[in-house]
Amino acid sequence: MTLHVETPLVQSLGLSRALGKHVWLKLDALQPSGSFKIRGIGLACETYRQQGKKKFIASSGGNAGLAVAYAGRKLGVPVTVVIPRSTPAHARTLLELEGATVVVHGAAWSEAHSHALCLLDDESALIHPFDDPLLWEGHSSVIDEVIAAGCNFDCVIVAVGGGGLMSGVIEGLNRHRRRTPVIAVETDGADCLSNALARGENVGIPRISSIARSLGANRVAQHAFDLARTNDVRSVVVTDAEALQSCSRFLDDQRILVEPACGAALALLYREDQETLASFDSPLVIVCGGATATYDDILKWQAAAESSRA
Ligand SMILES: *Cc1c(COP(=O)(O)O)cnc(C)c1O
Repeated sequence: MTLHVETPLVQSLGLSRALGKHVWLKLDALQPSGSFKIRGIGLACETYRQQGKKKFIASSGGNAGLAVAYAGRKLGVPVTVVIPRSTPAHARTLLELEGATVVVHGAAWSEAHSHALCLLDDESALIHPFDDPLLWEGHSSVIDEVIAAGCNFDCVIVAVGGGGLMSGVIEGLNRHRRRTPVIAVETDGADCLSNALARGENVGIPRISSIARSLGANRVAQHAFDLARTNDVRSVVVTDAEALQSCSRFLDDQRILVEPACGAALALLYREDQETLASFDSPLVIVCGGATATYDDILKWQAAAESSRA
């Protein structure tokens, strides 16, 4: 049994026509927890339960926490999610709906995370949002599905936060002996991979200023950094405004609301400048989804981005 579902793979006719390419969308926004995260987190939770763990602990008020809460409910394992005070009320409501025990601790994620570590004992497992080989293995199933569907893609576009999704995508491609380039997209202000690659060292960024909360890692996992250096990974940074505009346009085109984190990946299809994709004929976008932003949030961020530019 897997906790994730096989998601639709569709060709966007509108974008295909606009770009003169075959544009493929893997709709992981339609996973039961609202994002791709259940692929890896589902596998991790099943594995830890088999190893005898009786409780799951998470320290993410975002889609990773939601995926752990969903997995715990499905597996009958209690879940505690420690979130910082900055977590939006909407995300907290979703966690509670899944039946998770929500503990609010600290101003920032690092404080919530330290508290989560204190709650750990021999019977519980901490589920990391992006740095665990089980996550990468679970995420790699997205590529298995696309290849099993016979899709002829020539590059894969993924959003990058801590690099778990990208690591899974590369693991999947390598398993199928594909040398397909991966385009790793971050937003300005959450661009730790881009920064690390430019410096040749996984140093991380001191401060996250992007509204794409789900991309807000200070530093990618070392494994993700190593993979990005040894595979054909091309790092691209888009603005928050581009990510937000892509959320709106994707909502019109596909009738699916995604977070700005996912809008960042979609922005490569919607931006005027098509240089990044010039040498590709059949881009595949992992539509990673995200459940924590409401339509109202998107509109507010968009208004704020416009007034700061004016
Ligand atoms: C977690 C997440 C990401 C980033 O994934 P990483 O594995 O941290 O790189 C992108 N988009 C959404 C919606 C997410 O929830």
